[in-house]
Amino acid sequence: MDDRQLKRKAEIAELLLDAARQLGESLEPQRVYERFHDLLADVIRHDGVVVSSYDDRDDLIRAQYVWTEGEVLDPTTLPPVPLNREGGGMQSRVIVSGESLLFNDVAERVTQPDGVYYNVNREGTIQKLPESGPSGTSAAMMVPVKDEGRVVGVVQLMSDDGRYSSNQLELLEGLVAQMGAAVRNARLQEERRRLEAAEAAARAVAAEREQAAQVLEAVGDGIFFVDGHGRVRLWNKAAESVTGVRAERVRGQPLAKLIPEWEALATRIPVAEDGAIPQPMTLPLRAGGNDLWLSFAAVRMADGVIYACRDVTSEQRLEEEKSDLVATISHELRTPMSAVYGAAKTLLREDIVLTAEQRQQLLEMIATQATRLSQITEEVLLTSRLDRGDLPVEREPVDVADIVSATVEAIRPQLPESTAIEVEIPPDVGAASGDRDRIQQVLVNLLDNAVKYGASPVKVHAYRTDGVIRICVADGGPGIGLADQDRIFEKFYRADPQLARSPSGTGLGLYISRELAQRMGGRLELDSEPGAGATFVVELPQA
Ligand code: ADP
Repeated sequence: MDDRQLKRKAEIAELLLDAARQLGESLEPQRVYERFHDLLADVIRHDGVVVSSYDDRDDLIRAQYVWTEGEVLDPTTLPPVPLNREGGGMQSRVIVSGESLLFNDVAERVTQPDGVYYNVNREGTIQKLPESGPSGTSAAMMVPVKDEGRVVGVVQLMSDDGRYSSNQLELLEGLVAQMGAAVRNARLQEERRRLEAAEAAARAVAAEREQAAQVLEAVGDGIFFVDGHGRVRLWNKAAESVTGVRAERVRGQPLAKLIPEWEALATRIPVAEDGAIPQPMTLPLRAGGNDLWLSFAAVRMADGVIYACRDVTSEQRLEEEKSDLVATISHELRTPMSAVYGAAKTLLREDIVLTAEQRQQLLEMIATQATRLSQITEEVLLTSRLDRGDLPVEREPVDVADIVSATVEAIRPQLPESTAIEVEIPPDVGAASGDRDRIQQVLVNLLDNAVKYGASPVKVHAYRTDGVIRICVADGGPGIGLADQDRIFEKFYRADPQLARSPSGTGLGLYISRELAQRMGGRLELDSEPGAGATFVVELPQA
């Protein structure tokens, strides 16, 4: 190698080193192409540059950077060219062989029918050669861009009037190698950024899902999703506690398998479609051994129906109680009120003369009915105090034999003469712990019921056992039907109220009595065989 050659090699080496540094600074492929072209402009004269990429997955060659007659063109205006493996077309030859090409007879070549040639002018107009006329290019160099030995693109350099030498080709090859490495690096960076962004987006979606799932678990309403095949896909915690059905038992199962009435229920729940506001529907459901009232709302989704449900049993009971209260009060008050009104009106009439006995009877009627009215009011007020928990109940020793005989004596004057009350209490039964007045109130109610609904003789007896004292009030009446035995302790419940023989009443007496017994630490139970009289047992702790 002579001095000139050595000097040239050193210059090329320096140039390439500088190129590597400059190209490596760019982290976007487009910027790398632009810098590559800047570097090229300083060392090899040219009228056109095209950088194309080749993708072996679809065998297409695509322009990535196009500069012609001093203008950078949009590379997408050049259609992708299919690789021609049979050797036609200059780009294809470079890609297939992996070798650079140098032509100083381009005008002639493009007339050959073995490849596709385009000419692109500075306005970006593409003209297919040779049909559109002679090519303006006289010389061209084509260099493969390689990645680990694979050809991934081609750089074409065109000159309109001149020739290219093998030294220039060598220099171009060096620059193209640097550019290829820089583009690869930029692409890797781009890919890394894309992956990082995708990862961050996936993380955000996962976090959002997680949060949504947590919210679903935390909401107070039962939420469940039934897919198009009627199977449960989602069953949150509140759905578990509302229905008593565990998520692991129901998930993936048809809901009707665990809640048999579901099929009938589902047809009654309106399902909101197309963004409409769901209309809630309150329906009864027997779940987990309880009779519940649930309010359901449903929305149709693409692949099923999402339901929200809420336990409104206590609200529903309150509603029922409210209407029972209104019905009872209006019914029970009307009779005594009209009796009082009628009697008072008669007393006030001046056109008829009443005997002293008649006046007495009317006044007694007013007094009796007024007492009845105040009893009704008292029962309603007492019930509401019990419900509010605002009824103080004493716990003091109360002699049972004493309280029973006092109570029987107190009510005897109000009873029909024919009613017999037999009291059988051993004198040593002892004292119970409770509130004297409240125990008496319970006994009055039981005796009153025994007389009202039962038949003579009414028997009261008491005994001590296991730390408690039991006072039993038994009658010889028809007793209470099995279906009614639990319910008579409910507020406002009256067995057979529509029967003509049924005496008036609010249906609050037994509710109040049981509540009072419980507040004194005892209980009130019924022991009745239908047809064989009723026995109510008040149990109180021994004092
Ligand atoms: P009320 O007497 O005001 O109706 P209660 O709560 O005291 O209210 O009683 C509820 C219902 O229980 C009564 O309406 C009656 O049907 C039934 N009942 C109560 N005691 C007896 C009894 N000794 N024999 C038969 N039925 C009874």
